[in-house]
Amino acid sequence: MGRRRPEGGEVPPTTLILDEIEEGISRRQVEVDTAGLDLGEGDFRLVGPLQVVFRFNRSAQTFQVSGQLCCQLIAECCRCLEPVEQELEADLQLLLQRQQLSGDEREAVAEDEDVEILDPGAKQVDLKERLREAVLLDLPMRVYCREDCKGLCPQCGHNLNSGPCTCATGQADLRWAALRDLKLS
Ligand SMILES: [Zn+2]
Ligand SMILES: [Zn+2]
Repeated sequence: MGRRRPEGGEVPPTTLILDEIEEGISRRQVEVDTAGLDLGEGDFRLVGPLQVVFRFNRSAQTFQVSGQLCCQLIAECCRCLEPVEQELEADLQLLLQRQQLSGDEREAVAEDEDVEILDPGAKQVDLKERLREAVLLDLPMRVYCREDCKGLCPQCGHNLNSGPCTCATGQADLRWAALRDLKLS
């Protein structure tokens, strides 16, 4: 059995062709162009393709899908603003079911985000939106270039990881403290 494509060319890697998935457990690895995921302009940038390993468990018209996503990410260190490259890992869990449902049943299922009911005749499913959400959900809140990043001098903006600046904030603080003491006495 060959790879069946709908008329009109290539199937994008984010699309699952349901009848290509065998009964039982199987696995497939795809590369997704991150430019096509519409991740928007954030404080981060994805480098290279998104690597996705899908694991399927099919039983007749029920498809259990789990995906492990991995990509290189460049973001700013939240202390010193230097670009930092790190690995982004995310995952995806989804249950696909080809089934005829009544309106009420459809509503009940719609509440569960991880379940998608497809028409009995459905041939393929586009997972692009789900992959996009999985990546956004697992973006790190804060990125540090290193655990003990010293950050920037609040006065001159010098990157303190490359040595102290000439502001000598510690001494200035001491002088202010001395002035305060004078006023109190
Ligand atoms: Zn830093
Ligand atoms: Zn400084």
